[in-house]
Amino acid sequence: MSYQKELLVAQLAVQRASILTQNVFHEKAKGTLSKDDFSPVTKGDFGAQALIIQAIRTNFPEDEIVAEEEASSLRENDSLRNEMWNLVKDIKLTDDESDRILGGPLKNETEMLEALDGGKSEGGPKGRIWALDPIDGTKGFLRGGQYAVCLGLIVDGDVKVGVIGCPNLPLSDSATLSAEIGQSGAADAETGVLFSAVKGQGATSRPLSQGALPEGKAISMRPVTDISQACFCEGVEAGHSAQDDNAEVARRLGITSPSVRLDSQAKYCSIARGAGDIYLRLPVKADYQEKIWDHAAGDLLVREAGGDVTDITGKRLDFSIGRKLSGNKGVVAAPKPIFEQVINAVRAVYAAKASI
Ligand code: AMP
Ligand code: MG
Repeated sequence: MSYQKELLVAQLAVQRASILTQNVFHEKAKGTLSKDDFSPVTKGDFGAQALIIQAIRTNFPEDEIVAEEEASSLRENDSLRNEMWNLVKDIKLTDDESDRILGGPLKNETEMLEALDGGKSEGGPKGRIWALDPIDGTKGFLRGGQYAVCLGLIVDGDVKVGVIGCPNLPLSDSATLSAEIGQSGAADAETGVLFSAVKGQGATSRPLSQGALPEGKAISMRPVTDISQACFCEGVEAGHSAQDDNAEVARRLGITSPSVRLDSQAKYCSIARGAGDIYLRLPVKADYQEKIWDHAAGDLLVREAGGDVTDITGKRLDFSIGRKLSGNKGVVAAPKPIFEQVINAVRAVYAAKASI
């Protein structure tokens, strides 16, 4: 299987949804609600999810979808639903052929809500399952920082296609991550990147556009000759990963520069293109289970760019269990040549904690 059609549909769908999120990003009122777990969701999350699910259903009606959001709160909220419809109804790519592939616009509010509710698959070990996070890093999105539109195709438990839109990452693959990257979300002409990977076919980046896909460039992780000079990144939210433990791993590796903090799977993208080197996500709580939509596309992107991705015990992320990565704890990602050193430092940090 070469997955060329899946790749094209995913790229165009993520690109179209990214345009919608950029429109919301520039609005003051982002239509924010609080979910049952107190995490925020915006009309940008809802709109991007509806558009992407519609594109998947148009092209692959038999496939299952595991997506982060669902429509119940919108069914009860007339004004937000209406605002969302106004946002969704006019979104189209400027290239007619690309727009046609996606199935054209949603017809009405009912169709929009049905699409939004199409991501309730339980996941699992068999068949074709898309994992969708319409806005990963919603907190970054609201803060004016980094966020990502993430879509992965899992076949029989294995990620085969991964596509990530990062509207606020710099276009240039070679620019090293700066400390400001996590806050500077002001999209200008120099930002907006679409990352893609297919299992066994490598990873690419290209500018996010409004129309047909621009030509892609192969990306790969940076060779790290001196691990003490490696750039390590982590999330902005202290509640999502243990920043003190991450720092201790870096210290054991001899890294003296502070971490670069940025929200979302933009971290996987940044190390895959060689703008950073190591991504650490050591868990804050022992009982938190990561969600497959937060990692499927990023895991493949890093692997295809020459890296390894495991949990804190060195075990590969297992996307075959259900909606959650219930067989894993935390995430560690780094270029293959230094991966062993990084995971050994992670183990040493836990061993030291256990002996206290
Ligand atoms: P990041 O931008 O790297 O902080 O990751 C954002 C993602 O973290 C969100 O999409 C959430 O699904 C996820 N998340 C929420 N709570 C936690 C938690 N306690 N530990 C790890 N990840 C979390
Ligand atoms: Mg997320």
